[in-house]
Amino acid sequence: MQEYQQYINGEFVDSVSGEFFESQNPFNQEVLAKIPASTSEDVNLAVAAAKEAFEETDWSDVRQSQTRAQLLRSIGAQIREKIDELAEVESLDSGKTITETQLVDVHYAADTFEYFADLATQISGEVLPVPAEALDFTLREPLGVCGAIGAWNFPILFTAWKTAPALAAGNTLVYKPAQLTSRSALEVAKIFDQVGLPKGVVNIVTGSGRGVGQVLAEHHQVAKISFTGSTEVGRTVLKAAASNLKKSTLELGGKSPNIVFNDADLDRAVSAALTGIFFNGGQCCIAGSRLLLQEGIYDKFVEQLVERTKKIKLGDPLDWDSRMGPMITRKQQQQILEYIEWGKQNGMKLLTGGSIPKNPELSQGNFIEPTIFEASNNDLKLCQEEIFGPVLSVLKFKTESEALQIANDTPFGLASAVWTQDIKRALRMAKKIKAGQVWVNQYLMISPFAPHGGYKQSGYGKDLSRHCLEEYTQIKNVYVDLSEEEFLTLYE
Ligand code: NAP
Repeated sequence: MQEYQQYINGEFVDSVSGEFFESQNPFNQEVLAKIPASTSEDVNLAVAAAKEAFEETDWSDVRQSQTRAQLLRSIGAQIREKIDELAEVESLDSGKTITETQLVDVHYAADTFEYFADLATQISGEVLPVPAEALDFTLREPLGVCGAIGAWNFPILFTAWKTAPALAAGNTLVYKPAQLTSRSALEVAKIFDQVGLPKGVVNIVTGSGRGVGQVLAEHHQVAKISFTGSTEVGRTVLKAAASNLKKSTLELGGKSPNIVFNDADLDRAVSAALTGIFFNGGQCCIAGSRLLLQEGIYDKFVEQLVERTKKIKLGDPLDWDSRMGPMITRKQQQQILEYIEWGKQNGMKLLTGGSIPKNPELSQGNFIEPTIFEASNNDLKLCQEEIFGPVLSVLKFKTESEALQIANDTPFGLASAVWTQDIKRALRMAKKIKAGQVWVNQYLMISPFAPHGGYKQSGYGKDLSRHCLEEYTQIKNVYVDLSEEEFLTLYE
């Protein structure tokens, strides 16, 4: 069994308490690794190291921007070198299929470091056209020590999404990955070390949300907290961050509508609906968990969707033929089954799936069959709450305005999609949907170039893109009076 150490002040160290927790394979419950169980003492050490690196070295100086860019580029390159190794760690730890981790997640992590490497030298303020004899300009400056907390469902991506922009902007960082999937962050820490990131610039502290995350969110030496996780915990993090009025970014849950009109390209839309809900076993914040179908295509669409869903191969995440792995934990599996049971008991029509698979080879894993329900209306619990599993609710609509009303009828506002050949309708919908992301004739496309983040109770602030650098910087205004005239005053 592998034994990990956390990464503080450029060194791999045990937790102060010497305690560990275990990482478990969701496919067979095998214990894979021991990870340090940190506490507030470790957080304090990490924050102190990050503070020293920010204040006592020239890391944050603009003259270091090219160095920061080079380091970020080297991290991206090293991740690419180790794609096979990192993808395997990730699949074992999280139950994500190797096709996802190797072809998507690890590549995107490398892309993210490379994208922010390109931006590291481009951060600037602006000259303001004040109507006065003056030069007024802004400086865009780093914040200091940033804290970040990740969810378990895209572990290596969150390591990249949180560290790359923070470093590009000249901050230092303490990152806490989710306990359930901490291994890839600690593997990436080895790359940070290998490329020569100055000590204290990034610190990875592992442990529980309460023991580590909460302490980080409350810490008075931390200037910003970037959180990815549930809306419920997001509220707690925000309260903790209020203690010193930290800048906060909250990337929270979703219940995203995927809307298909009669004139859509049916084959593509069916493929995207499957990807939207079953990618990572539905354990995606942006999962298209509400499928809205216009009445003219409803029957045909559902028939194709169900037929293709029945062919999805559940299996060992390390098997290249598997298309869906297990849920992250037994508890998660149980919660999803409770939602399914609620649907069955409350008159929702089950179209496929709806239980634990019968295949004895899967009995040790936390599997759930890909499940589709017909929903008579959007008020149902399964259409309102985030299930975070492979459970799709299909709703029928007649008109564009009805589709819009259903789409926006949720406390969340993370993602959405519109399928139509009518460009005017696509753009009308894109303007009126209350969500941070609208895809037109697409689902699930995320790129470092484009901002990711929600509306409403899906949170605020952005990960990715140049907009996310606004989250990791603050603006200073410098007004230089050039006038030779007498100072204008109300006082004699
Ligand atoms: P979670 O239970 O909210 O946990 C997220 C992180 O917060 C974990 O690292 C957790 O630590 C930590 N945490 C727990 N309690 C805390 C506290 N009191 N103070 C500070 N940190 C605390 O979410 P999850 O189950 O990992 O992830 C699933 C949720 O994340 C879903 O709702 C999903 O939609 C959302 N999500 C959102 C996005 C997005 O970009 N909008 C992306 C992915 C996931 P431990 O678990 O280690 O104890």
